[in-house]
Amino acid sequence: MKLKNKVAIITGGSSGIGREAAILFAKEGAKVVVVDINTREGNKTVKAITEKKKIASFCKADVSIEKDCKKMVAFAKRKYGGLHILFNNAGIMHSDDGDSQSTDEAVFDLTMNINVKGVFLGCKYGIPLMKASGGGSIINTASFVAHLGAATPQIAYTASKGAVLAMSRELAVVHAREGIRVNALSPGPLRTELLMKFLNTDEKKQRRLVHVPMGRFGEAAEMAKAALFLASDDSSYMTGTEFLVDGGITAAYVTPE
Ligand code: NAD
Repeated sequence: MKLKNKVAIITGGSSGIGREAAILFAKEGAKVVVVDINTREGNKTVKAITEKKKIASFCKADVSIEKDCKKMVAFAKRKYGGLHILFNNAGIMHSDDGDSQSTDEAVFDLTMNINVKGVFLGCKYGIPLMKASGGGSIINTASFVAHLGAATPQIAYTASKGAVLAMSRELAVVHAREGIRVNALSPGPLRTELLMKFLNTDEKKQRRLVHVPMGRFGEAAEMAKAALFLASDDSSYMTGTEFLVDGGITAAYVTPE
């Protein structure tokens, strides 16, 4: 077991990548705090774990709210006695996020508050407990769109993921001597609710898929395996970098027919 006796907080654990990571991390021996705003689905994640006699609890928190982030870290300390893995994964892709001309300020602010400030607040409150627990690994979910101007514009989302990459590097440098590693996970386009809701027509899906050399959307379970690598000692000499798991999309200039 790769995460035996580790305590993990996973935000956005009610769906997609977060849910799959919670299940996989628990299978590998971690005690998992599943964090989300969606209580019903979060409890389903926990049930899927505890049914298999593994350990997890749900903590409702909105990562864009400071007191909620304080609460989720206090919850991990009270319930499991420490923190070794912080997976700042919660994020949104707003359906009204478009180009610079069509996107409302409110959509931009909301996206930055959840996708960027949420990572900052998770680290602000998670790092002291992680230090007190002897160090650990922080994984921040970014995206391939931090590298490519998207075929379907989403200005706020793209900017937010660029910020996650930059923030991850700085966090890594500042906390390296404290035994804390910080890396970003950058998924390619995935077949999760988040993207399927945004690419809500076959034409939009096809427009995205045409750029993926592998010719398919990725799966949340494939991202969970990559996150496990970053969370575990398998990546013990990795910090301040990015794990791109994207079906080859950022390597492609033109895709083969
Ligand atoms: P998802 O929509 O399936 O899951 C996201 C979860 O985050 C949901 O359970 C949602 O309730 C939760 N959430 C949203 N706002 C929250 C908040 N303020 N506080 C706490 N929880 C909140 O999406 P996913 O595809 O699993 O995405 C997870 C991460 O991966 C996101 O950061 C996303 O930007 C990123 N990502 C996704 C894709 C993709 O194609 N799906 C690609 C690259 C990056």
